[in-house]
Amino acid sequence: MRELTQVVDRISVFILDMDGVLYLGKTPIKGAAETIRWLRKRGKRIVFTTNSSAETRRAQARKLARMGIAARESEIITSGFVAALYLRKRSPRAKVYIVGEKGLRLEFERAGLKLVPYERAEEATHVVVGIDRKVNNKKLTGALRALLGGAKFIATNADATYPTEDGLLPGAGTMIGALEGCSGKKPSVVFGKPSPRMIKIALGILHSKPSKAAIVGDRLDTDIIAGKLAGVTTILVLSGVSTRQDIVKFRRMKIIPDFVIDGIKDLVHR
Ligand SMILES: [Mg+2]
Repeated sequence: MRELTQVVDRISVFILDMDGVLYLGKTPIKGAAETIRWLRKRGKRIVFTTNSSAETRRAQARKLARMGIAARESEIITSGFVAALYLRKRSPRAKVYIVGEKGLRLEFERAGLKLVPYERAEEATHVVVGIDRKVNNKKLTGALRALLGGAKFIATNADATYPTEDGLLPGAGTMIGALEGCSGKKPSVVFGKPSPRMIKIALGILHSKPSKAAIVGDRLDTDIIAGKLAGVTTILVLSGVSTRQDIVKFRRMKIIPDFVIDGIKDLVHR
């Protein structure tokens, strides 16, 4: 693929999805750390993105470090971070009820936003929902009361599933579906890909034009669609969720990645 080598040379910003591109669960994908080092040596700027809101940016940086990938917190964009940025800008006095994990709560606290507990859920102005692997009836009850009381429904991401070493597990779409089912409401904003929001924020932080950037992702239905909407070069890796059969299926819907590679290590050339 001579053309890919030319594009890799021309692109200055690489926006990388993490799950399915750099690792599966806790297992690093072969060649990921070497590829990041190679890109950095060539002066490429890198942004790490994830639809997951389970961990803070700091925790994500530590996770990458354990896999031999050096990343600064400022190079990481999560859907939870973007949701907190959005609310801080639009509604700095928001009272937020969260259905999500510790990382999401921390990201909102760090942004200086006020969180309301279950006992005062009715006071919430916003319900923010992300993946919660300890979701229970009480947490959902709080969110239902807040939504029925008029709070805005916001979702970090709507991924139906996420990939692990043991196969697919239920994603944030599970919690959103549960709340849609009981409240009859749908989220008014979803920050994760396929929304191009995270990519646009990455381009803004690096003052880069879309024409100089590429997204590398493992999902046609999120990463590649988001990349197309943001106008960046799209590179699909087959080391995560999407398969060759999916490529055929999505081609019928005119969703065609610019490049398809087996894994991130295929970006490297001499
Ligand atoms: Mg992924």
